[in-house]
Amino acid sequence: VTVFVAGIAVIALVALVTVAVVQNKPLPKSTRYRYGIVLDAGSSHTALYVYKWPAEKDNNTGRVTQTESCPGISSYASNPQGAGDSLRECMLKAAKWVPSSRHGETPLYLGATAGMRLLNVLSAVEGALHSYPFSFRGARILSGPEEGSFGWGQATTGALDLGGASTQISFVSAHFNGSQSPGNLMTFRLYGNDYDLYTHSFLCYGKDQALRQTLARQTQSGQSSVSDPCFHPGYIRVREYSDLYNTPCLADLAPRTPPTNFTLLGTGNFQGCQELIKSIFNFTQCRYSRCSFNGVYQPQLQGSFEAFSAYNYVLDFLNLTDTSVSLEDVKARLREYCATPWSLLQKQHPTTKRKYLAEYCFGGTYILTLLTEGFNFTADTYKDITVVRQIKGSDAGWTLGYMLNLTNMIPAEAQDTPPLPYA
Ligand code: AMP
Repeated sequence: VTVFVAGIAVIALVALVTVAVVQNKPLPKSTRYRYGIVLDAGSSHTALYVYKWPAEKDNNTGRVTQTESCPGISSYASNPQGAGDSLRECMLKAAKWVPSSRHGETPLYLGATAGMRLLNVLSAVEGALHSYPFSFRGARILSGPEEGSFGWGQATTGALDLGGASTQISFVSAHFNGSQSPGNLMTFRLYGNDYDLYTHSFLCYGKDQALRQTLARQTQSGQSSVSDPCFHPGYIRVREYSDLYNTPCLADLAPRTPPTNFTLLGTGNFQGCQELIKSIFNFTQCRYSRCSFNGVYQPQLQGSFEAFSAYNYVLDFLNLTDTSVSLEDVKARLREYCATPWSLLQKQHPTTKRKYLAEYCFGGTYILTLLTEGFNFTADTYKDITVVRQIKGSDAGWTLGYMLNLTNMIPAEAQDTPPLPYA
């Protein structure tokens, strides 16, 4: 990785020098902008981001100009050709958005987040991405700290990211210098200031894997039916044991000789759902001065936070993005929502995807529990969270920070520009 990053740095440096030499003359129109493309291979889909920035201001930051949702590549583990093919339509769009004269110099990265760490499909798409006219700079899986810290966009703001497979928390803390837990420290030198960022990624605590963990808690003895408080009254679904336990997050937990299926029956009980969710967190052991959960060090929360990805999808649907509402009111809303009969809910939301609709009660309850019990937000600090769809004009997530870092465009020295990697 070091060699990889160093190589990128050299390429970027050459590019910067070239730009500097020609900077006195106005650039011809086609060279006024530079572009960068990042593919974010998430657990459920691949997101394409095309960034664009003025060539004269190379160390200012990119702005997302186009985004596109592309198919997920996770299902192609045994079919490499299919994975490459599945991205073709998206890549052709990117080729249209970036002027053809810029193609050769436009860096293209594919990064995959924790969800993909559970699979093994990256080599499958590398070959395919080489075949496009861009300057493909590699595909790799981000480490947990990278995923957390590249999603962290503003010096004084923490980031809360909830994916399908993992969840990340990152913030600057005056109480943290890494001495307690070096693995959680990311140091940034940005615009002349040093920042010690606390960051942690919890694999298996994204929304989908957390739900599976709660189902595993209820099927340990090979039950053929489960009354689940996180699903609405009247909700019935038959699920296969082999399908539920087919994830490394539940490795070794599968009952020995389960039946083929179990029937999931919703009871719609917020309190019961919250108790069930609490049972997937371990609060008993902590060898540091303080922990979030599962024995993971977390300094005292500090500053404001931006929450995105599934935090946004779920809280937006539940009309709970306003965090000035008291936690008591949030609970009351969830209590009422989870108790809504499944048949009524479907009538009220005829166009919402059924899978999503069925899981907002779990999602909302999980978010509340993760934030308050897991990360230790209180009635007082809950309002410090802002739920965002985008971070400062760029889509929330790690892609811009990742590209800027790899192309060596995060300036180390102070500038007139505000200290934001996100333009
Ligand atoms: P991803 O970023 O692809 O890992 O997805 C994060 C989580 O958000 C997954 O649990 C997805 O199923 C979920 N998700 C994506 N879009 C929506 C949506 N519109 N409503 C509810 N959940 C969603």
